[in-house]
Amino acid sequence: MTTARLSTPSSVLEDEHRELVDAFESFVSRELVPLAAELPETTDSPPADLRAYVRLRSAGLGFYAGDHPAELGGSGMPFTAVVLLHQAAGRSGCPLAPYALAGSDGPSPLLRHGTEEQIERYLEPLVRGEAVRCLALTEPHAGSDAFRLTTRAVRDGDGWVLNGRKTFVSNADRADFAILVAAVADQGPTAFVAGMDTPGLRIGQRYDGMSGEPLFELVLDEVKLPADAVIGGEKGIGAALGTGMDSLSRGRLVVAAQCDGIAEYALRLGVEFARERRAFGERIAAYQHIQEHLVSSRAEVEAAKLLTLACARLVDAGTEAPENAALAKLTSSETAMRVVDRVLRVHGATGWVRGHPLEFLYRYIRMMTIIEGTSEIQKVIVARAMGLG
Ligand SMILES: Cc1cc2nc3c(=O)[nH]c(=O)nc-3n(C[C@H](O)[C@H](O)[C@H](O)COP(=O)(O)OP(=O)(O)OC[C@H]3O[C@@H](n4cnc5c(N)ncnc54)[C@H](O)[C@@H]3O)c2cc1C
Repeated sequence: MTTARLSTPSSVLEDEHRELVDAFESFVSRELVPLAAELPETTDSPPADLRAYVRLRSAGLGFYAGDHPAELGGSGMPFTAVVLLHQAAGRSGCPLAPYALAGSDGPSPLLRHGTEEQIERYLEPLVRGEAVRCLALTEPHAGSDAFRLTTRAVRDGDGWVLNGRKTFVSNADRADFAILVAAVADQGPTAFVAGMDTPGLRIGQRYDGMSGEPLFELVLDEVKLPADAVIGGEKGIGAALGTGMDSLSRGRLVVAAQCDGIAEYALRLGVEFARERRAFGERIAAYQHIQEHLVSSRAEVEAAKLLTLACARLVDAGTEAPENAALAKLTSSETAMRVVDRVLRVHGATGWVRGHPLEFLYRYIRMMTIIEGTSEIQKVIVARAMGLG
């Protein structure tokens, strides 16, 4: 598991944060790689206590949730730096590295629009890596079409009562609190924050995903919440998707960066294997069909990385348009799927065997074209921006 870096066109955009990326890579190789070596070979998903250790250690070093300002517990790094760290985590091939950076259980952009009290009570512990959360938006009949929610929030005196069912919720089994999105009559989807021990809120069915990450159903049965559970207070009512929208680009670019890193790692495995493996008296690297797999992958990975980094710079400049992040997420996730597939072909049966990194990545990368909006939905966004439909 080396982290040697090729000199590539994208390194031009990486140089600005070179020291930070070097420091992160050295943390991964010095501290996380030895820990990962202790995990059984077929572990798809590291245990919760190990993830918590990695998260807290990384927060202590200033990497985790690093784009949050110092007064919230972050390091105030630009978003481009966060994207570079996610690319580096994937590129390392270390299965613990992604947990050193904030993901779906970390600080929610929705909470950045919270009241002062919500920021202190919920966002800050997330930034410090001390708490984890889940987001319950998807419903059995409302996935991509998130405006079709049937979970309802009804006013009850000063507070609210929520009823409904959420599905495919990540992290529900280890979250300290949930962000629940429910429809408020005439006002629209509204985000509420509730402790997982709130009466009436319970985990229902568990779904075991193909890469080992479980997802959960959340059942809301007469969940009573106080008035101050609405994220952002009164002005947050009906604003969940509007508020969420301006943060979607960041989430999509983080997924794009994760995909770029994984694709780069897979490509490195492919090149190393092709140089060693012999067939018909030659190293397979000499065969043009194998070169085609690897050179096409190299070209596509470079293009995807550059697009992701350019979009991250636009976010930092405050000029990012949602269709750019949609393009980047679409490009990077579909590229990573193709690259992992091709590199597995290059490995023959070796890459297919349980316990080989490619076998895991082949299953893992599938989710990247679904989360933060499917590839089809990214195309819908881009088509609209192009004045189509
Ligand atoms: C690993 C993982 C983690 C997840 N974590 C969470 C979580 O923490 N919280 C949460 O709330 N949800 C979570 N989800 C759910 C995820 O957000 C949804 O699966 C996603 O939004 C798609 O919704 P759906 O599965 O209902 O598919 P649908 O929306 O039913 O889509 C089915 C198919 O139709 C296509 N489609 C839909 N609309 C259009 C259109 N207008 N044009 C063209 N094609 C279209 C889709 O692209 C897809 O191919 C998670 C999912 C996965 C796989």
